[in-house]
Amino acid sequence: MKTGKRALITGVTGQDGMHLAELLLSLNYEVYGLVNGQRQANGEKLAKSFPEVIQIRGDLTDFGSLTKALSVVSPDEIYNLGAISFVGMSFRQPEMTANITGLGTLRLLEAMRSLGLEKQTRFYQASSSEMFGKVQEVPQTEKTQFYPRSPYGVAKVFAHNTCVNYREAYDMHISAGILFNHEGEHRGYEFVTRKITSTVARIKLGKANELRLGTLDPQRDWGYAGDYVKAMQLMLQQDVPDDYVIATGETHSVGEFAQIAFEIAGISDGIEKYVKIDDEFKRPSEVDLLIGDASKAKKQLSWKPQVSFRELIELMLENDLRIESDTK
Ligand code: NAP
Repeated sequence: MKTGKRALITGVTGQDGMHLAELLLSLNYEVYGLVNGQRQANGEKLAKSFPEVIQIRGDLTDFGSLTKALSVVSPDEIYNLGAISFVGMSFRQPEMTANITGLGTLRLLEAMRSLGLEKQTRFYQASSSEMFGKVQEVPQTEKTQFYPRSPYGVAKVFAHNTCVNYREAYDMHISAGILFNHEGEHRGYEFVTRKITSTVARIKLGKANELRLGTLDPQRDWGYAGDYVKAMQLMLQQDVPDDYVIATGETHSVGEFAQIAFEIAGISDGIEKYVKIDDEFKRPSEVDLLIGDASKAKKQLSWKPQVSFRELIELMLENDLRIESDTK
């Protein structure tokens, strides 16, 4: 029997949702997941991995479904992870991205207020380093000015500022984690890191003979998703809500990520032999360099990343080698 707190996770079927559900269950939470009924397969996958998670139908574009979900669950904590989170897709469908990633947050906060939950329920917002975009200082902190470079980044700035405004206007316990890129076994295949590790695994097994990428140059601060969800939970345990940068403080290029993945797979000339630069994957405006300063989270939350850059690539590649060995 569950005796702990009750949490509602939006985006529970995504990468972070899976890691967070696992963490909260291990901490004895009663975990509810808002599941978007249009993609039934994702709910089924979640049910297989975490049968204890209670699924509630709902969509961030549908205010009625959000009020209904909140009135059923009456959560102590809400983790708002639901979003169109892939930058490339946000350029193709900017309006949908604004509606889900941006306005979806506003709808959820308004749903809380309409049910009188604003004083009893704590709220975590999944803000993003993509809000820094064309960076105004290096490294980026909670005080760095935002300069988003994609419809995704713009939508996240709207959601973030809405959270700050609701925290101040209605005295709500809302914390935003400005998370730098984080990856892992549950990463979507459209993201560059997963594309690299899954393709390198396929090349290693003789199932593919090229890795098509838009560019090798962008530099990112990459951590492990399993480490980052711990920071989310810690933020909601603080007496005072606040915003925190969550990052490793190291930056590496896409090319470096690919180079190490090939190296670990035992393919020393991988980049020269298999990587093809393909304009199809180039973006209209790119973010060149992200590197975060997580000093505040380290000091106030006692949080620090555990998995190194190389260990992250190792665990992702091993996972993909396992998956690719089991499938045709
Ligand atoms: P993800 O794997 O893309 O997951 C996104 C989730 O949002 C999925 O569960 C998806 O559900 C759900 N979703 C999409 N449209 C929805 C809608 N209309 N209503 C309700 N839910 C909807 O993303 P992630 O990597 O786990 O990231 C979690 C959050 O952190 C996102 O908000 C992301 O923008 C943010 N973030 C991520 C990173 C990172 O590096 N991973 C960094 C900073 C911030 P279905 O797919 O089942 O429809």
